[in-house]
Amino acid sequence: MVHETGYYDLLGVSPKCSQEELKKAYRKLALKYHPDKNPNEGEKFKLISQAYEVLSNPEKRELYDQGGEQAIKEGGMSGGSSPMDLFNMFFGGGGRMQRERRGKNIIHQLSVTLEEIYKGNTRKLALQKNVICDRCDGYGGKKGTLEKCSGCKGRGVQVKVQQIGPGMIQQIQSMCADCQGQGEKFSSKDVCKNCNGRKVERKKKILEVHIDKGMKDGQRIAFNGEGDQEPGLEPGDVIIVLDQKDHPVFQRKDDDLVMTMNIKLADALCGFKKTICTLDDRMLIISSQPGEVIKHNDIKCVQNEGMPIYRDPYERGQLLICFEVEFPEKGWLPEHLMYQLERLLPPREDVMITDDMEEVQLCEADKQSQERSHSREAYEEDEEGPRGGVQCQTQ
Ligand SMILES: [Zn+2]
Ligand SMILES: [Zn+2]
Repeated sequence: MVHETGYYDLLGVSPKCSQEELKKAYRKLALKYHPDKNPNEGEKFKLISQAYEVLSNPEKRELYDQGGEQAIKEGGMSGGSSPMDLFNMFFGGGGRMQRERRGKNIIHQLSVTLEEIYKGNTRKLALQKNVICDRCDGYGGKKGTLEKCSGCKGRGVQVKVQQIGPGMIQQIQSMCADCQGQGEKFSSKDVCKNCNGRKVERKKKILEVHIDKGMKDGQRIAFNGEGDQEPGLEPGDVIIVLDQKDHPVFQRKDDDLVMTMNIKLADALCGFKKTICTLDDRMLIISSQPGEVIKHNDIKCVQNEGMPIYRDPYERGQLLICFEVEFPEKGWLPEHLMYQLERLLPPREDVMITDDMEEVQLCEADKQSQERSHSREAYEEDEEGPRGGVQCQTQ
């Protein structure tokens, strides 16, 4: 049975992904395609929101996995909240009431390395924001010179009459472009030359972002009141969202660090000493005792060498090491020495062989051709009607 994966594809995740992976994917895409950043991608923003809304709800996700988008629609499960509400809920942008009295929040994603979260860091971030024009104090022009807009006669809207057919006319109302819908404006000599009557100006602001030890991927750092300013409104916040880059050696799992270490068969059987370079560039020596025997996929840990705990950085999680044992290649030992090796290894079990048994050949399994034949089976099951050329070639 082939499942629909459109929602997963939209978010760029596998259908087996965890809720955490889902959140991260939505976070990245929603910030990228938010209408504030990407005004031309409104449709994409909507689709991403739709997909995340369904997949982030375990009940809806199950329904989707079983019957695809159709099942979601039939089950009356589609379209709960608007893309913007979902976004604000996810990033903590406050409710509707709050938004009306306050300026918009500015949300920025900040890419950080695992080392930065481990050691802590301060990053300077330059951003452009609207601030109240200091020449006119947000008034837009010379005080007391505001006059009724002649373009719209003070109504703020302009009405256009258009003939759309014989004897049929249509009235189109649009915001007055002369006064931006305000109904009043300054004459050109009185308008503020600094902001051009817009009451605000764009200014560069440097923010110092303190990345504390142990902060997590997706964690928010809020700068209250540092968002866009607008006359008569309380400014919104600047919210920095941390986005941790993958590390070539360590993966973070909550407060623990996880790494894979390849060891030779001799290391596994006879004991070893190995070094590990930590995220703050210290060298650790780990060792196993002769005769301890490390098996393939064994996991060992080093206490207190994991991630620092957020707000309690002297405590740390553990470092988990997953061992992969490299076996020697074919023909590494001349045959006449095998006997000596066998004498050293634990004894093996004898096999009883009788006449009614059948001796067969053991070959290399070709993984690729196995996968090919599986996918062909699925294809043939789904296919109806005349067979295509692919089958002809294989018959
Ligand atoms: Zn006007
Ligand atoms: Zn001004």
